[in-house]
Amino acid sequence: MKGRNEDLEEDDDMNAREDRREKRTAAKVVDEDILVSDMTWTEIQDALKDRPVAIVPVGATEAHGPHLPVSTDTVIATEMARRGAAKLAEHGVPALILPPVHFTVADFGADFAGTMSLPAETAVALMRDVALAAGKKYRCVAFANIHLEPRHLECLKRAVEEARKAGGSVTFCDLTKKRWAELLGDAYQQGDHAGAFETSLMMAAAPELVRERERISLPPTDGLVAAIKKGAKTFMEAGGEDAYFGDPTAASAEEGENLYEALAEALAVSVMEHLGSKA
Ligand SMILES: [Zn+2]
Repeated sequence: MKGRNEDLEEDDDMNAREDRREKRTAAKVVDEDILVSDMTWTEIQDALKDRPVAIVPVGATEAHGPHLPVSTDTVIATEMARRGAAKLAEHGVPALILPPVHFTVADFGADFAGTMSLPAETAVALMRDVALAAGKKYRCVAFANIHLEPRHLECLKRAVEEARKAGGSVTFCDLTKKRWAELLGDAYQQGDHAGAFETSLMMAAAPELVRERERISLPPTDGLVAAIKKGAKTFMEAGGEDAYFGDPTAASAEEGENLYEALAEALAVSVMEHLGSKA
């Protein structure tokens, strides 16, 4: 015989299960169910029947001004992956998003609290081996990268090359290529770091992580590109003692939405071209 409390507990259990079911259904509508880290192995097994592409977001753990968190690059890369996956789905290409690579070479910001910079060899091995491990399960692997420090980009290119040599079907969307850079606007092309470009992307994807009071108080600075051409190897040498470059006050969520459209396009086209080139 069950007491009244046990009946109530059973009702609660049923309600909780119902809630979870509803949440899952709602999540499907916004494509939340493509984040592998939130899925069980049985759900992933089901999804793998459609031969999905694996998208791996890549970012540094790095100082991004006094107004954005050190996770800024991975937050942006993950949102780029999500929206790129939605575009791929429109073309009949299913994709799942793997947990991001949070650590890589981040020497420019290495002196700042919160930045974690890995040796190049470690970064190459990490990205190469993530690609090879994912390549055993997925149709192909695509890196969605938003950390544009030159030495990191060299590592990413090497990781892709080495993974390909080992038989992996791997690509990455190189945002420094002219065709994509032109879509991303002036702030981006001048070497934005936590300026109007990245801050807009954060305001669109994760406004709760933007320190608004700090953002609106920051004076605009020049982009990083000019300083890198003159030989700067760190944010300090480039004159960025607060670890931002550009104009955070010029950022807006609306601009962030436009930029995600361009990032998603770049990623989806890169993947489609990679798949096409193999056909
Ligand atoms: Zn960044």
